[in-house]
Amino acid sequence: MTIFDPFELTLIPPNHFSFGGLDRDVIVREREDCLDFILRLPETRIVPVWCSHNLFSVTGETGATPIPVYLSPEEAAALTDIAKDMVYLGKQNRDDIIISYLAIDISILDKDKATKKLASWGKFADLREIGPLIGGVDGSILAYARGMMFWHSRNKFCSVCGAATIAIKGGHQRNCTKKGCNSLHFPRTDPAVIMLVHDGDRALLGRQKIWSDGVYSTLAGFVEPGETIEHAVAREVYEEAGIIVKNITYQHSQPWPFPSSLMLGFTAEACTKIININDDEIDDAQWFTREEIHNFETQKKFLPRKLSISRRLIDDWLSDHL
Ligand SMILES: [Zn+2]
Repeated sequence: MTIFDPFELTLIPPNHFSFGGLDRDVIVREREDCLDFILRLPETRIVPVWCSHNLFSVTGETGATPIPVYLSPEEAAALTDIAKDMVYLGKQNRDDIIISYLAIDISILDKDKATKKLASWGKFADLREIGPLIGGVDGSILAYARGMMFWHSRNKFCSVCGAATIAIKGGHQRNCTKKGCNSLHFPRTDPAVIMLVHDGDRALLGRQKIWSDGVYSTLAGFVEPGETIEHAVAREVYEEAGIIVKNITYQHSQPWPFPSSLMLGFTAEACTKIININDDEIDDAQWFTREEIHNFETQKKFLPRKLSISRRLIDDWLSDHL
């Protein structure tokens, strides 16, 4: 048995960006010399991040599969010297070698310098655009690295008093430096619910104004303070489409650190049928039969991308697994 193996944690396969399965190694995080210790391990692999972009040896521009670039501490020495943030992501047994992953943020370099310095290794690209093309474990590690660096970039100063903060615990905490404040700051994850609402024969799909023409997906929204995730499902469906739901059932989750969400997937049964759209929130919402969804392309309608939890909820309903 392998600890944290995403395929053993639940009875159903993980979602895209959920394959990481890293041992986040809190014991090493707690070491005062955590980052130096990780940098001394020859098996450590450095994960460069520049302005929320990850490094790939092939970016997919030619249709080839993108390959993430991990550097050894020796190869990355010039980069770790200038990195503005570093995060020990955790360790993993890959091919019987324990690999420790260390993310570094080199956004301090302007675009030309970053491009030139890394030219022999690859190019930076947006994981959201090429994520579906890369392997599950690698995509998960890159998404995690990117999310952590975003958090660091937005928490350089204390949200309580405005003083500078410093990173500790392998980059998993920032402390305020002002005496008398000493506030502790932790990486945020914002829970969001996403739900396939159905009435047995039809699914409720909607579209947001900013989406590409014809794309329809499940409804979704952020959980508000003081409510359960089930309440959030019912509230969002009612707010967006005027539908009352019951029998809300959790299905599976997906980290979505773009920049900091955790998607919680549900199904829910509709108690009412008449849609009353909130124009401020969505562009349209309709009931669709399975047959209608299967024929979407003939109506110039489209489902969300395969990597998304919304697509999985829809596909599972289409195949009658829900
Ligand atoms: Zn403070």
